[in-house]
Amino acid sequence: MSTQTTRGSCLCGAVSYQIQGPYHFFQYCHCGRCRKASGSSNAANLMIPAANLTWLTGESLTKQYKLPAAERFSTRFCTQCGSRLPWTTPNGEFVIVPAGSLDEEPESLPQRHIYWGSRPHWCSTMDALPKFDEVQ
Ligand SMILES: [Zn+2]
Ligand SMILES: [Zn+2]
Repeated sequence: MSTQTTRGSCLCGAVSYQIQGPYHFFQYCHCGRCRKASGSSNAANLMIPAANLTWLTGESLTKQYKLPAAERFSTRFCTQCGSRLPWTTPNGEFVIVPAGSLDEEPESLPQRHIYWGSRPHWCSTMDALPKFDEVQ
């Protein structure tokens, strides 16, 4: 399968990491939680096996926050600059990577939109990707 290594980092540069595929998914999510956490109309996330994430610098500056009411939803961020960073799923098996934190091109492109029906009216996404109103 994939062997490409892709690096990412936070805005202030204190935290950096690298990931390796394969990506289990790469998708845009328009749910209310992703909108709040991202500050935008959607999140762009990809998911990889947890073992395929390596923190290069600054891991101790990161904090993972799990939304108490959520089964899985979490976020991880740099405590210096607030940028979103990869977070680990509760079972420890996977890592969700915010694609905007990547410094290099990912090895594949997004496949779909989820929670499409939750998007705000000012969302400008008009691509031809499949759109679903729930998690697939
Ligand atoms: Zn930072
Ligand atoms: Zn979401």
